[in-house]
Amino acid sequence: KRRELEELRDVPAVTRDGMAVALRANIGLVSDVRIALANGAEGVGLYRSEFPYMSRSTFPTRDELFVSYRKILEGFAPHPVTIRTLDIGGDKTLPYFPHPREDNPFMGWRSIRVSLEREDIFRVQLAGVLMASPYGKVSLMFPMVSSIAEIWQIKKIFGEVKEELAREEIPFDPKIRLGIMVELPAAVLTAHILVREVDYFSIGTNDLIQYTMAADRNNPKIRRYYDPYQPAVLHSIKRVADVAREAGKPVSICGEMAADPVNAVVLLGMGIREFSLSAPSIPVVKQAIRSVSATDAEAIAAQVLALESSGAVRSYLAEVRERLA
Ligand code: PEP
Ligand code: MG
Repeated sequence: KRRELEELRDVPAVTRDGMAVALRANIGLVSDVRIALANGAEGVGLYRSEFPYMSRSTFPTRDELFVSYRKILEGFAPHPVTIRTLDIGGDKTLPYFPHPREDNPFMGWRSIRVSLEREDIFRVQLAGVLMASPYGKVSLMFPMVSSIAEIWQIKKIFGEVKEELAREEIPFDPKIRLGIMVELPAAVLTAHILVREVDYFSIGTNDLIQYTMAADRNNPKIRRYYDPYQPAVLHSIKRVADVAREAGKPVSICGEMAADPVNAVVLLGMGIREFSLSAPSIPVVKQAIRSVSATDAEAIAAQVLALESSGAVRSYLAEVRERLA
């Protein structure tokens, strides 16, 4: 079985009827680069950029960020790398950056909210990404976006950082693509508005499940509420996929949900063509994609979306799993 999966590394992720799917990696540590390449990742769909900030005692400079981003971009070239800006707060804090005590950290001052308030920190990170951009194919991604005004503010700041680098005659790729994570119900419901301002969407199911079901992703006591098979979650994903398709913009999935091969088939059937996974899951997901046709996947997704409870979805997908095995 292991050998079989190793052989899968170099074959494309294509369905039986010829639909090509991109399988990228979620990475954090520099050592993840090697693991991602070993598993046949076609680039990085989510680089969680917190790690270079965590293992130190002060904020990194733009030159330090440039060096680490450049390494990652070069490691994956010519494949694309999506760098997500700082997603601190919630359960992730920096030892040298005091965070206010909050009753509800996951609904608090975290992620893009920190970046937009502490523009000084945000600008340094954007400059680091821009400086690295000539060394590979990079996209920027913004987490936890809840309204269009945040995207306007991000673009204004990004434009200013570009102008500053241009004044310093530092080269950068002027056409870096900007995308957002769709991981809040607010973003799902306004996806048709947000889509006009971005180059792509990436659905973060880890947080989307948490916020849709009001179920803390780290609390085992309410594990059964944290359920990707809830119709509320499934219809949210479908809606975002439809909005992106109608707008002609790419949409990917970067939450853990997609690491289960049966879920990947359902997501494929909803119109998702790009997946970003923790690297060890890439081979099994690839195997599942190669074993179905896009038409089968669409029928499976349609059936799933017609069911009215997570229990019914779970039993139906148990049958599908047997068929696929
Ligand atoms: C997500 O929320 O689904 C996601 C991919 O990001 P993180 O797990 O880092 O919050
Ligand atoms: Mg998230």
